[in-house]
Amino acid sequence: MGQAVGITPENDGGAIIAPPLFYVGAGLRPALLCRGKTILAKAFERHYAEKTMAKTKTRKNVLMKFYRALFARFGHRDWWPGSTPFEVMVGAVLTQNTNWSNVEKAIHNLKKARKLTPHAINRLSERGLARLIRPSGYFNVKAKRLKSLVRWFVGEYRGKIENFSGVPTKKLREELLGVYGIGEETADSILCYALERKSFVVDAYTRRVLYRHRLIKGKESYGEIKELFESSLPKSLPLYNDFHAQIVAVGHRYCTPRKPKCEKCPLNSFPVRKVK
Ligand code: SF4
Repeated sequence: MGQAVGITPENDGGAIIAPPLFYVGAGLRPALLCRGKTILAKAFERHYAEKTMAKTKTRKNVLMKFYRALFARFGHRDWWPGSTPFEVMVGAVLTQNTNWSNVEKAIHNLKKARKLTPHAINRLSERGLARLIRPSGYFNVKAKRLKSLVRWFVGEYRGKIENFSGVPTKKLREELLGVYGIGEETADSILCYALERKSFVVDAYTRRVLYRHRLIKGKESYGEIKELFESSLPKSLPLYNDFHAQIVAVGHRYCTPRKPKCEKCPLNSFPVRKVK
């Protein structure tokens, strides 16, 4: 304690030899320390900046290590299945709340009926579309969402993918989020996988894996988790593309909501929370 009291207007040029928190612990109020206050404020700033930097560096390293471990197990995931960008856009809506095999059946129906184009879906009635995409589940809701997406695509961009070129990703994301039924995950899936924009996709698997490995506390928003990835990883579309696909693979096969299969999981060498 004697060291902290030693910082006075008379000797504030001296080195601080205890960590900043020590002074708080000692019951000292920085505001009362006159010129010593500046030193303390700077020390606090430095202390927290270093702490934050260390945390960010750790997360960055951990995320890349996660990716390498997943890639070593699963190989390149080659996402997203779809023969055209428009098919990927449609798939991004149809995959909401269902598994991929159901989406494939719905897409097969659209192809068979020669309706898998923006203009064909735009002309189709909502009821007719719902009938074709029935296997994907929630077909009435999804038909309404798909019609809205296509209305925007045809109305604003004439239904041509090339007309997106030159439009900033931020603007496209805002426009997509303004379309009925398009949430952040669907918007980012369309941006990343259909339009090849660097927009990281976050889903329930991402949240679960990060939470279990203590990289998030659990109540972070979608935007905060997306930012964690985008600020930590090199800005690379192939990396964003494949990393999300790897997380889906590990989430689907190992990191289940109950009884995760950690023993066989490629991420089991990283420290993990106790899962009830
Ligand atoms: S299954 Fe276990 S080791 Fe694998 S990601 Fe989930 S918590 Fe981590």
